Amino acid sequence: MTLKNMAKEITINGKTIQPGENEMIRLNVARLPSGTVISIRVHVFRSKKVGPTVLVMGGVHGDEINGVEIVRKSVNQKIFNNLTSGTVIAIPLLNVYGFINFSRDASDGKDVNRNFPGNMKGSLASRVAATLTKKVLPHIDQVIDFHTGGSARYNYPQIRYTANDEKSAELARQFAAPYLIKKSNIPNTLRKIASGMKIPTIVYEGGESLRFDGFSITRGIAGLKRVLHFNGMLKDAPAAISKPIVFNKTTWVRADKAGIFEWSQESGCKVGIGEPLGAIRDPYGEFEVIIKATREGYIIGHNNAPVVNQGDALFHIGYQVD
Ligand SMILES: [Zn+2]
Repeated sequence: MTLKNMAKEITINGKTIQPGENEMIRLNVARLPSGTVISIRVHVFRSKKVGPTVLVMGGVHGDEINGVEIVRKSVNQKIFNNLTSGTVIAIPLLNVYGFINFSRDASDGKDVNRNFPGNMKGSLASRVAATLTKKVLPHIDQVIDFHTGGSARYNYPQIRYTANDEKSAELARQFAAPYLIKKSNIPNTLRKIASGMKIPTIVYEGGESLRFDGFSITRGIAGLKRVLHFNGMLKDAPAAISKPIVFNKTTWVRADKAGIFEWSQESGCKVGIGEPLGAIRDPYGEFEVIIKATREGYIIGHNNAPVVNQGDALFHIGYQVD
């Protein structure tokens, strides 16, 4: 592995951190209309011994609290305080604007994760992205970015990694989430921009936005420890609870009708083609439509919304084609 920092000092925002030192740095982004300064907190943990620099981050989407909690808990439990080599840069919450508004997006209504690499003079989402791209990414050898499903959709703990990038595939295997999903990159995402900078990046998805999910938080911390252990940065890590299942295709089962939605199969279940997954009913007791699996695979995500519109995504099914 070629490393960005061969045991030398790291300077972020004018602050220099030597090997063996830990620091917390605030990166100011932009003031709120009230005048309050919003800053991103960056925790830097350095071993004296040379090793990779790993970015561990949550809250790119401000309402995806499980990701924030995974990084918060890891910092709070001092997981990174005794690294056996290398550096961890931990950012529990990137999109502070979204977090205080209970929103996925920044206060400009834009998605930070569709605004990379960003622009320091752009609107808020673009400024948040640019702060990370310019001040943090140049130091980084690997990225682990923690997310959850959006708008009432629950994601079973899974890693998304970049197709045709063996280094991100290796990180995914070492993380060993229950599901590993090979996906091409979406333009202007952190994963796309970091990949372009030759920084292997994996995205963890677990649970749903604005809802705590202990299972996803536990699986996220365990996977993070396995990657750091594989890097030679942690003495030990918990074994995976199951052999990860790999998918290279996913498809959505959508609502044929609008109505009240109730699932009978949920994320984590293996399903056969035509198998009933749930039902949509009208509020008046006049009709019931059974939702069936459109192909064989595993449910990697499901919708927890009790009322759905025609065409809404209900079940995300992962499968493998050669
Ligand atoms: Zn997200």
